[in-house]
Amino acid sequence: MKNTILVFGDQLTLENTALEAGEVGRDVVLLIEARDTGPAHKIKRVFHIAALRAFAEELRSHGWQVEHRKLGDTPSFETSLLDHFSQKKPATLLAMEPNNWSQQKCLEAVVKKSGVDLRITPTCQFVTSRADFLESAKGKKRLLMEAHYRRMRKELGILMQSDGEPEGGAWNYDSENRKSVRDWKKDGAPRPPSPVTSRRPRGPLVEQAIADVEKWFPDSPGKATDFWLPHTREGALELLGEFIKKRLPLFGDYQDLMLEDSPTMFHSIIAGPLNLGLLLPMECVKAAVSAYKSGKAPLAAVEGFVRQIIGWREFVNGVYWLKMPDYIESNGLGAKRPLPKFFYTAETDMNCLSRTIGEVRDTAFNHHIQRLMILGNFLLLAGIQPREAHDWFLEMYIDAHEWVMAANVFGMALHADGGFMATKPYAGSAAYISRMSNYCAGCKFDPEKKSGTGACPFNLLYWDFYDRHTARFGKNPRTSMMVKSWLKRSEPEKEAIRRGAAEFLSNLS
Ligand code: SF4
Repeated sequence: MKNTILVFGDQLTLENTALEAGEVGRDVVLLIEARDTGPAHKIKRVFHIAALRAFAEELRSHGWQVEHRKLGDTPSFETSLLDHFSQKKPATLLAMEPNNWSQQKCLEAVVKKSGVDLRITPTCQFVTSRADFLESAKGKKRLLMEAHYRRMRKELGILMQSDGEPEGGAWNYDSENRKSVRDWKKDGAPRPPSPVTSRRPRGPLVEQAIADVEKWFPDSPGKATDFWLPHTREGALELLGEFIKKRLPLFGDYQDLMLEDSPTMFHSIIAGPLNLGLLLPMECVKAAVSAYKSGKAPLAAVEGFVRQIIGWREFVNGVYWLKMPDYIESNGLGAKRPLPKFFYTAETDMNCLSRTIGEVRDTAFNHHIQRLMILGNFLLLAGIQPREAHDWFLEMYIDAHEWVMAANVFGMALHADGGFMATKPYAGSAAYISRMSNYCAGCKFDPEKKSGTGACPFNLLYWDFYDRHTARFGKNPRTSMMVKSWLKRSEPEKEAIRRGAAEFLSNLS
């Protein structure tokens, strides 16, 4: 009897284990373009739709029968699925482990309603099995990415010496990977060509996806015609190759650097294709390690990249499945302020925020330091409601999925999970932004000024944050110095900072 193989829109790989469990010529692959996917930037929508349509063609070229339900066919994913069951009456529904909680809930609901027999196969999009991660986390009060990362390096034998020690004698080279804007000028390093702004040639498939997004989602943010990322496996491999050759050698040195009009710096930009299944994690890791072994990229850069893939990416996915569904409601610091409107318009006098938000508004992309140390930092210090912040990140970024954003926003950026996955909040004052970017030169605020007219709001908010959370962070060995430094200030100085922060926050919305 025929089975149906459901391939979710973020599982677009021929190595999908549900395809491997099925049979070409007998089973039908079901692909659904859903209209009920929640708010999303138009560039992200074009990417998802174009990639799904290209994958449908790829499957057909490999002999699969494909039922492809398009945007106009049915309003919701669940209706499409139920519709398919009542028409085709498959013996079994095969699906690879869904990547997101909402997909899993939808699957459970349709199985209950239709009575179809469901068979779930393990994911091929992560190196760590979900079950293993959950097992290893049992009974732990706190999980550390570093412990997970070292375990992965050893298990996979990535960047390990024959004596069981890490390659080069250290597990990470962060201290070599933090060059400032001053170092960048001194080094005379090039400004990397930006793949975001260099448009790729488009075929009719992308043009149609752009037209469909404009038709069905006219009110989403962004311009569909500004779509820029490769949407096929072939294009994704090219993007990976381009990164390994042109940007990886300098990625480590300048991975925390932020420059105006250089939205990608030396970052890989592969997260979008990787999170849709157009690339798989180990092929990215192997490509970087091979560049190191052939002397084309330094160890510090390669190790930093490897950590992003088998360290952070796997870890945030594991934390997501461990902590859902309550995780996305966590608000450990009691932050209540609504998200400012300028997160959609970029209209603010704070140059760092305006530049960063302007880039995501126009391209659906920022690199991770902009996300963490400009946007996340601001949202943390200003006490913005974490769920609102999470929903904005999920909506705006081309590579954002529920499983990616939960731990990154609630755990890492906003410290909303009570410190479960980050031992300290990622809070920074203007001194950090001024050292690591060239934003401050074009700003009306003064990064050196702590209070009074013209003082940088990051300075006011930074100290106001430690004032509001003195009890909590005074006990944390990684933040107690900051609290002590705040408490040592004179009362008039503290009052001026509190007043300045309150005034700034009252004008925020
Ligand atoms: Fe941002 Fe402050 Fe620098 Fe302006 S002065 S760019 S607000 S850090």
